[in-house]
Amino acid sequence: MTEKKRVLITGAAGFLGSHLCDRFLNEGFEVIAMDNLITGDLKNIAHLFQDQYFQFYHHDVTKFVHVPGKIDYILHFASPASPIDYLKIPIQTLKVGSLGTHNLLGLAKEKNARILIASTSEVYGDPLVHPQTEDYYGNVNTIGPRGVYDEAKRFQESITMAYHRFHGLETRIARIFNTYGPRMRLNDGRVIPAFIGQALRGEDLTVFGDGLQTRSFCYVDDQTEGLFRLLVSDYSLPVNIGNPEEITILDFAEEILRLTKSHQKIVFKPLPKDDPLQRQPDITLARKLLDWEPKMTRQIGMQRTFDYFKGLTKEELYKSEHKDFSAHNRK
Ligand code: UDP
Repeated sequence: MTEKKRVLITGAAGFLGSHLCDRFLNEGFEVIAMDNLITGDLKNIAHLFQDQYFQFYHHDVTKFVHVPGKIDYILHFASPASPIDYLKIPIQTLKVGSLGTHNLLGLAKEKNARILIASTSEVYGDPLVHPQTEDYYGNVNTIGPRGVYDEAKRFQESITMAYHRFHGLETRIARIFNTYGPRMRLNDGRVIPAFIGQALRGEDLTVFGDGLQTRSFCYVDDQTEGLFRLLVSDYSLPVNIGNPEEITILDFAEEILRLTKSHQKIVFKPLPKDDPLQRQPDITLARKLLDWEPKMTRQIGMQRTFDYFKGLTKEELYKSEHKDFSAHNRK
């Protein structure tokens, strides 16, 4: 029997991380999952604990990372990823993108592993080029509220390329655009759980600004497929992974009211600072390089996501005010 490949997944108890754990176990990998559980939740990976090829380390990757034995691949997905989270834990957000990435690159070098890092469409900031191509440098406010996330991710790309160029490390950079699906955290403030939670609680839907800002939502299974293909490709420059189908937030709120058969109103709230006006990935490169494009329609993807949220307990649905991070911020 050939030895299984071993993959380390950081942020494994988070939304994307937990889906990646499922995917790599299904592909026949041994999965070492790591998370400090600040924004992640063990319930997302609880179903994996009886799998003999799955193990979990409760660890903060901004501290030295030690994993015994060989590692073939590292997927660095640890980071707060919603505007509300990184406003509440700005320093943790900066540290995991910078110090955390440095530790994992060091580990990859030590183990001779290939590393894929989760970058983001936020590196483009409030983009002046539309749709966003990988060669666009972005329009980021370094000192704005989103700067802690955007600049950590931009630094992450820089240090990853430096390890690639200077140490010859095998690196992959995925620029991930808005992704959705089961296991999103209800209280993370992102638009999809926010709207669905409001609909389920019988509250009005809160559209920020005039709702004419756009986003392009990718279903999680399409996202993990793109990430998997990128990992096994031989391309080391950044690649956009997302769904190019763009919609205004206002139209999206109306879609959610129809999907959830809610009779609530849409109410308008102030637009958060530096909220990007438009966002749509140009996925020409991913199509060509990875022979990949999203397959899931928003109608079916959103139905599956809604079904997941409907399965939450009443307690989970109502404790949805934002998570208390005060203990972590004292560290
Ligand atoms: N948004 C909204 N109402 C909400 C939450 C978010 O209108 O209750 C808007 C937000 O201002 C942004 C878009 O929805 O324009 C997507 O926000 P999200 O936080 O999901 O992620 P972003 O793409 O901004 O990082």
